[in-house]
Amino acid sequence: MEVRPGLERLPSYTIDDGEWVIKLDANERPTPLPAPVQAAIMERLAGLSFNRYPDMAMRSLRQKIAAESGLTAENVLIGNGSSELLAALCYTFGGAGRGIVYPWPSFSMYGIYAKLADSVAVPVALGEDFGVDAAAVLAAAERDCTGLIILCNPNNPTGTVIPPAVIEKVVAAAPCPVVVDEAYYEFYGQSALPLLKQYANLIVVRTFSKAYGLAAARVGYLLASGEITSLVGRVLLPYHVNALSLAAAEAAYDLRQEFAPGIRQIIAERQRLADELSRLPGITVYPSATNFLLVKAVDAKRISAGLAACGIGIRDFSAAPGLAGCLRITVGTPEENDAVIEALAAITQGGA
Ligand code: PMP
Repeated sequence: MEVRPGLERLPSYTIDDGEWVIKLDANERPTPLPAPVQAAIMERLAGLSFNRYPDMAMRSLRQKIAAESGLTAENVLIGNGSSELLAALCYTFGGAGRGIVYPWPSFSMYGIYAKLADSVAVPVALGEDFGVDAAAVLAAAERDCTGLIILCNPNNPTGTVIPPAVIEKVVAAAPCPVVVDEAYYEFYGQSALPLLKQYANLIVVRTFSKAYGLAAARVGYLLASGEITSLVGRVLLPYHVNALSLAAAEAAYDLRQEFAPGIRQIIAERQRLADELSRLPGITVYPSATNFLLVKAVDAKRISAGLAACGIGIRDFSAAPGLAGCLRITVGTPEENDAVIEALAAITQGGA
């Protein structure tokens, strides 16, 4: 069968969809939605006109998201997961021969979306302790006829943050739009968004999949100048967010204060898990501003196999370039984290 040239070389996004007893491999919220949010979603779904196409403009949710940041609905786009918006940005600003620059290691889909958009993926190596070198990112952007720079902050899978001054340096000097992927924003609390007043080339992308616990619904949003949102709007398909997901996201957003205790607990558990794991022999825990920890282990393969044998699923990056020996563990419930600590203690001390 003849396919589009290059398609056979395109890597696919792979996950190990094992049946885990404790699932800590995808940075999801570990518990069901808060009960009032669940009830509000069900109520909205009950009132939905399934025979009608969804609200194409999605104005109501866009207005609410905009108002929170002193913006207007024109500054907001909603997507089928932030994934769709990241891909749409690559389609909008990439294209044949144009570069898409991003620090690396980072979210694995950036390179795939760049190539899907016929663009050249230009990863720029992270430095010591996974730091972003603004000058190196800008130099790559100047060299490679760059259409878009993507900064992931905090970064997946390292958990590290890019200092605000580094982000501003890139945004201020970039020859192109700069998207800051803030998928884990709620666990960090700092955003690049205030820079939007000063820099019209800034784009912020966030998701309902992590702190809002709506991974199943697939909803994300983008904040940018009206010029950028109308350009990106051209590459999105009509009705690209279904009415069920939109209803769920709007109900969750209306009740967003309900998520604050869960977020606080993840942050506290992140610290506890980091403290406990860093006591274990042969394990280094990197600082994290997200809902996961990256750990480096002398014996990473044995550890991930040992955890899998206990029914605990994590993400093994130990064979990935730039992440030798690294494992990513999502912060779970206190009980799940206890199980991880216990299993890792047994494995690293020669047990399991
Ligand atoms: N950006 C980053 C940094 C992520 O880690 C993820 C999910 N793992 C996404 C974007 C995509 O999330 P979603 O499509 O669920 O919004």
